[in-house]
Parts: sequence; C-alpha cells; structure tokens
Amino acid sequence: MMRKTVILAAAFAVAACGKSPAPETPEAEVKGVITSEALEGHVAWLADDAREGRMAGQPGYDAAAQYVADRFEEFGLEPGGEDGGWYQQVPLVSYRADENSITMVAHRDGQDKAFEYKEDFTMGGDKVRESTHVRAEVVYVGFGVHAPEHGYSDYDGIDVEGKLVAAFGNAPGILPTTERAYYSSGRTKSQEAIKRGAVGFVGLVSKRAEEYFPWERVKANAGVRPGMAWISITGEAADYFPELEGGAYINVDVARELFAGTPISFDEARAATEESRPASTPLGFELTLARNTSIEQITSPNVVGIVRGTDPELADEYVVYSAHLDHNGFGPEVDGDRIYNGAYDNAMGVSLMLEAARAFAANPPRRSVLLVAVTAEERGLLGSDYFAHYPTVPTESMVANVNLDMPLFLYPLADIIAFGSQHSSLEGVVREAIATEDFELTPDPMPEENIFRRSDQYSFVRRGVPAVFLVPGYTSSDPDIDGESIVKDHRKNHYHRPSDDMTRTFDWDSALRFARANVQIGRSIADTDERPSWNEGDFFGEKFGGN
Ligand SMILES: [Zn+2]
Repeated sequence: MMRKTVILAAAFAVAACGKSPAPETPEAEVKGVITSEALEGHVAWLADDAREGRMAGQPGYDAAAQYVADRFEEFGLEPGGEDGGWYQQVPLVSYRADENSITMVAHRDGQDKAFEYKEDFTMGGDKVRESTHVRAEVVYVGFGVHAPEHGYSDYDGIDVEGKLVAAFGNAPGILPTTERAYYSSGRTKSQEAIKRGAVGFVGLVSKRAEEYFPWERVKANAGVRPGMAWISITGEAADYFPELEGGAYINVDVARELFAGTPISFDEARAATEESRPASTPLGFELTLARNTSIEQITSPNVVGIVRGTDPELADEYVVYSAHLDHNGFGPEVDGDRIYNGAYDNAMGVSLMLEAARAFAANPPRRSVLLVAVTAEERGLLGSDYFAHYPTVPTESMVANVNLDMPLFLYPLADIIAFGSQHSSLEGVVREAIATEDFELTPDPMPEENIFRRSDQYSFVRRGVPAVFLVPGYTSSDPDIDGESIVKDHRKNHYHRPSDDMTRTFDWDSALRFARANVQIGRSIADTDERPSWNEGDFFGEKFGGN
C-alpha cells in the first residue's frame, strides 16, 4: 500500500470552482458539535453487558439497532431504510452442524482411521443441505491460489477433479498486498477449486494462525456460534457453493500424521508456503467428511439514515459511511466472563459514525451522506454485502464508502491508516482531511493481515464503489510509547475476547480528533465537484469498477 496519487485538496477544488461556498472553517464548526463525552456514552451503552455482545438475530443486537435509529432521529436525519423507515431487514440463514453427526475418517492402504471432532479437527455446517457426505482423495494445493498474472499457481499440472483440496489460509507473500487480499479470500479460493472440479476443502494451520489462534482457542470456539449467510430476493443463500460437499480444519498434529508417507511432509509443505513456493501434490489417501446441519431462517436489520445534501445537482449522490453494529454475542468463558462486548469491535466505530451523523446534520454538505450501521459483519460481512447488493439508493449514486471498524485509541495518536485509499483518488482527500487534525497518513503496516478484504468496505468495493477503511496507526505522539506492540497485544489478547470491554484503555482525546478527521473526509468528498475515481489501471477498479 505504498503507491501515492496526490490530487488537489478538496477544499481548494471547491474554493477554485466557486460553485458553492465551502463552510467557513468546518473543523472549527465540528469542534463544538462532537464531544468526547458523547463518543464515550455511545460506546459504553453499546458495549454494556445488557447488550449481550450484540449477536445478529439476538435481542441485544435489536436493542442496539433501536439505539442507532433513535440517535439518527434525534439528530434530524431522514430515514434511509425500507418503506420510509430506519431499518433494512436482512434475511439470513443461521446454520449449525449437529455435533454428534460430525465425522472425519481417513482411508489409507485398506485402513480406516476416525478422528475426534474438536480434538483433531473442526467442521462447520452446510448453508442449505441438512446432510452432506463425501469420500474422496486428498490433493495438497499450497494456498489454493491461481494467479498466473503474477507467475504463481498452486494448480499447475495438478488434477483436482473429484478430489478434496488441502490448503493453507492466506496467499503467497510474493503477491502485491492488494492482490494478496483478493486471492486469500475463501470466496476466490472456492471459485477456483470448483472450476477445477474439487468437491471439498481441508484447511491446514499456518504458522501465523498457530501463533495468533492456537488450537485451544479453535477448539473452544468450535460450534459455539452459528454460521450465517444472507438470502437473495430469489431465495438463494449468498456465496453458497453446492459443489463443495465437505470441509474440515485439521490441527497440526493430525496434519503431520496424515502427511506422513506422502510425497511431502506437513512441515516441508508449510515451509514452502512461507517461501511462496508451490509444492502441490496428490497425497495418496482418501478422506470421508460428513455432517448433518440444523438450518433456520432469521432476519436482522441494517440501520440507515440520510443527511440530505444542499446542492440540488449533487444531493442525489451519496457519501456512504458504514460501521458494523454486531459482535460475537456469548462465547467461551475467559476469566469468568462469557459476554463478548466488542467495545472496540465495533461499538467504537458505530460511535464515531453516530457523531459524524450529528456533525453532518448540523451542517449538511453539498452531496448527501448516507450512514449505515450494518449487521452480521462478524458472520462474514453479511449486512454490508446485502446492502451493497440491494442498496436503498441506486448503486451508481454511491460515490464513496468510508468504513469504520475497530479503531483502537490505546495511546495518544499521531497517524492514521486508510486501508484501500491507494486504489483511488481518495488517498489525496484523506491525507488533506486528516492533516486538519494533525494526523499523518501511514501506509498499511501489516499487509499479511489482508485487512482491506476483512471488513465491510470490501462489500462496496466489489460493487465498484471506491472505499477507505480508517484505523489509527502505530505511531504515538508520545515518543516513549511503542504503538505497534500495544496494538499487537490487543489483537492477540483482547480482540474477539470478552476483555474487549470498557476496562480497556481509551484515549478519548485521540478518539475526538479522529472523529473530527473522519467528518472532514466525508465533507471533502461531499463538497468536491468531481466524484472519487479508481486510479488508472487499478486492480480493484478493473475487476469491479468497470473502468
Ligand atoms: Zn470483529
């Protein structure tokens, strides 16, 4: 994320064309409107134990949705949901494998060996079928990535027709960051495998996964929460691949055992992926994967509000803010606590969005601003993907998406990362806007995490809308503070755990500056004549943006 495309600052563009006067010192205006007390109040309410972790489809989430709708109403927004209301109901399938039915058996040299669910492997349910059963040969395919334009393929000379493919998560480190994010997605990998006739997936544990999500945690979380998918207006479960008849995630010891006696050992295979070296090979044994699934249909709302723009020619175009309102509900107990409050993930993002709504409503820009609190992000970006497929305003009218997810204010901040900004004209806009609050724009410091694909902005990117995902950077204004180690500690020890609650550290002054910078970004986009555009030849622009 290092390319730079500096464009004229939005404020200058507006001033130069003289079309409509830029508000006198908008930052100063915003300064009186947003307060750190208000930011803290929203986070504390949304992350309260009474919300029970805001699981999509559960009462705690519904109460949080009502809270957001009430704030939108209080600030004077227009309802932007269905039928003139605040909500867009998202139809979902909620599915869960019946644990007693889950089966994994290896067959080799006439011997069968059954493995133990949770100890040896985990398995989710099927989105549509109540029962699946598959027995097939296993072929090791590295990452399961085919990226010939970068001279990389795990499938060259490998036949997987009618086979189960065994693969690591992520994508080879030699790919550019952006492409790596795209190729590491389960959707991309499933499509590639299906095209080649594969019938299922066996997930392998990478070194990184072993460190950040050790098997003890995999085991503790297995089967605790349902899987979900949104349902299209024609009644189909989204991103459903019926060709894949089974899937399992196997622990390192089992992988070592299964790979023994095959052309490659598990550790050799894993070392090859770390070097971006394809080492695909048939493994010479078969696996049976089977399970029954309980499936129910539920709904959970996105909450949508609109601040109407002031320019008659631009008011039908929208700058879209998004932040996921759901979190992980109840989960495995840690230190006597089983409520996953999600204070940072993502009560904080919603709080910033609410205060942006307040600031825009107090002083509307030229274009309209649409703010959507989305559901079921934690279940796979479902609410945002549904909204992006069935937007309550025309797709072409959405000029940009600004997404907020888990902004960490663990120390006094000096910089901001805008994931994805380097793909479009938004990079220049963001840099200028955040400078008003003395923030610097820093490139993605952790490309291996594929963050740009892992939150709701990606749903908009896939519909061709230029997007940025804003989070605080690693640099503190206090030179004695090592921001990177503090963020890494949070990701390792508090992210997606019950301790992501109000007992964490919050630098509310940094949150306030970030909130104002966030408003300034949207204001720049909304007040500039030209709408944001994908950069010439950009990977996402070409793939999804039709340019
Ligand atoms: Zn999360």
